[in-house]
Parts: sequence; C-alpha cells; structure tokens
Amino acid sequence: MAYNVTLMPGDGIGPEVVEAMRRVLEATGIEFAWDYQDLGMVAQEKQGSTLPDATIASVRRNKVGIKGPTTTPVGTGFRSVNVGLRQALNLYANLRPAKTYKGVRANFDNVDLIVVRENLEDTYAGVEFDTGTPEAGRVIKAINADSAKQIADDAAITIKMITPEGCRRIVKFAFEYARQNKRKLVTAVHKANIMKYTDGLFLHVAQEVAQEYPEIEFNDRIVDNMCMQLVQKPDLYDVLVMPNLYGDILSDLCSGMIGGLGVAPGANIGADGAVFEPIHGSAPKYAGQNVANPTAEILTGALMLRHLGEIDAAERVEAATAAVIAEGKDVTYDLKPNRDDPTAVGTDKMADAIIKAL
Ligand code: NAD
Repeated sequence: MAYNVTLMPGDGIGPEVVEAMRRVLEATGIEFAWDYQDLGMVAQEKQGSTLPDATIASVRRNKVGIKGPTTTPVGTGFRSVNVGLRQALNLYANLRPAKTYKGVRANFDNVDLIVVRENLEDTYAGVEFDTGTPEAGRVIKAINADSAKQIADDAAITIKMITPEGCRRIVKFAFEYARQNKRKLVTAVHKANIMKYTDGLFLHVAQEVAQEYPEIEFNDRIVDNMCMQLVQKPDLYDVLVMPNLYGDILSDLCSGMIGGLGVAPGANIGADGAVFEPIHGSAPKYAGQNVANPTAEILTGALMLRHLGEIDAAERVEAATAAVIAEGKDVTYDLKPNRDDPTAVGTDKMADAIIKAL
C-alpha cells in the first residue's frame, strides 16, 4: 500500500531538490501517494499565509510530511513556518544526523553522529520578560522573595523550563531511534553540575529511561566537555540527546564538521506527526537554475524512509548517494574540487545518477 505523505516543495531551490528526492524515493520501489501542499512565500502569494491551515491539516491527516526549504519573507508579522509547524503538530524531537561522505570537503573524515534535540522546552519555550517592564518587575519581585540569590531590578529574564515528561519523551525517542537503527550508544548532554534542577532533571530522567534499554550503552557528558570531545574524538560517539539550546548549537557544530549545509538532512518528529526537511535554506539566487545540490533533500527522504520503517530502502538511498558523491563525476558544482568545474551536472542529472546507483 502506498504511503500518504504531504509534500511541500517550498520556495527558491525547494521545488527542484524536492523533485529530485521524489524521483529517487520512488525509484526504490516504495510507493507514495503525494499530497502536494503550499508552504512559505509561494503559499503567502497564493493563499495569503506562509503556513496555510490546509497544509497543517494535510500533515495532521497523513502524519508524515516532507518539505523543501522556505524563504522567510522580510518584514514583521509573518508567522514562522518552522516554528508554526512544530507547535501546531507538537513536533518535540529534532533529529539531525551528521555523517561524513567521501568526496565532500570537510575537516573530519570519521563522523557518524545522530543529534536528537528537544524542540519545545528549555529557554526556547518563549517565556521572556524585557528589561524594565512591569511584568519583569513582578517576576523579579516574586523570585527575590523566595531565592537566596537576588536578581537585579532591571534584569531581562528568560525562563528555562524543563518538564519530566518533556525529558522522558525525548530520551525515549533517542533510545527508540538507536534500537530501530542498530546504534550502540546514547549520550545525554547537559550542564547538570551547574543547573542542578533543570538539567539535573534531564540527566536523572535520562538515567532512568536508559535502564529500559539494556542492550544500548548509555553515558552522559557535560556540554562544554562534549564540544571538545566532538572535535577531538567524534568516533567515540553515536547518538547524542540533549535539551533545546545545546541541541541547537551542537547540531550546527556537527553539520559543520561534515562539510556543511549541502549534505545535512533533518526532521521534526512528534507523537501526532513528523515533518522532514534539509537544514539548508532556499538559496534564492540559484532558484530555477537546476544547479542546487539535492543531497540534503535526498538524505532527508532517506530519513523519512527510516521513520516509515523502510530501513532497507533508506540504506539503499544513502549508499547510492554516497557512491555518486565518492565517484565525484555526476555531482553539482559545490561538490567539485573547483566550483567553476564545467563538468558539474545539474540537480536533475545528479538525481539520475543516484537512481542508477540504487
Ligand atoms: P541558504 O541555506 O539558503 O544559503 C546559504 C548558502 O548556501 C548560499 O550561498 C546558498 O546558495 C548555498 N546553498 C544552500 N543550499 C544549497 C544547495 N542545496 N545547493 C547548493 N548551494 C546551496 O541560507 P540563507 O541564504 O541564509 O537563507 C536564504 C533563505 O532561506 C532565507 O529566506 C532564510 O530565511 C531561508 N531559510 C530557510 C530554512 C528552512 O526552510 N528550513 C533554513 C535556513 C534558511
């Protein structure tokens, strides 16, 4: 039976890389019933909203969506597409694999990491009070009444908010991913030595959840030490799970280690649905020119196949993509040693080569 998937091509290079991904995924033999929906500027122009209700309803109905990048309109008052989708669908887990591919210029050659970032809590929950406001004054007064440490009257405040349930579901997500994808180690990343209650809770819950997965090794690292170890001995690590802010930073660190935007897939996953997307933006200057690198979108498609339980097809897509990049012949300009190389192929031809290598 075909999988019902909401397909959101997005803006800029989105439609081209999404089309490349669609053709590669279909070439695996897995069947899809694509439900095309507008998102981003294109949706703004056609439907008057960057994130139309019909698009959210479609993902809610299908439970799985895959998108191209969207352009963020300049000016105020636009609802953020990614934050809007995340909140509307309660997508609490951000999944960012970072793997080095032979043929991609990168400073590391032995990285194969999965970063699992909590998406909805922490300092990113949006509970903030501006300096000098009456609201901030009331919050400061209430805290100072109960705290030995006193906050200055004119402080700006951001609340770090972490719940037991938020910790449990993200750590469980990391272990379930490890189990399904035959990963050996889960590392919880935190700063529990300083933030004893919030990060302490995260660590405590992670230790509890780890006991439910005896076949998977578990350890924890303090976030600053984790950064140093990642650049010194990344091969010692496997699946990393962490609260929102550390995840935001470490996932970009890991993407940088593997050669950056063009090859980094991603996903936002929750109990009610999942939305898959590459981490790069819409690269407007290359829109419609058939030059954009489709790798990140295609690997994002492979991540979706894994989510659907189609592990064999996912591995075939990843291996074929790796083989085409390693050969270095049918690749886009950015994967050639010299960016002006006249032998660089277009987005569609690179997808053709990956399909042939499946
Ligand atoms: P960008 O990722 O679009 O571009 C950064 C650089 O990388 C540019 O030089 C671009 O040409 C290049 N690039 C990116 N993807 C590429 C690909 N697949 N192949 C070849 N080259 C590629 O980031 P930006 O320029 O900061 O943002 C452009 C627009 O994208 C903005 O409107 C931004 O808000 C949006 N954006 C969207 C997302 C998303 O939808 N998830 C993420 C980041 C940025």
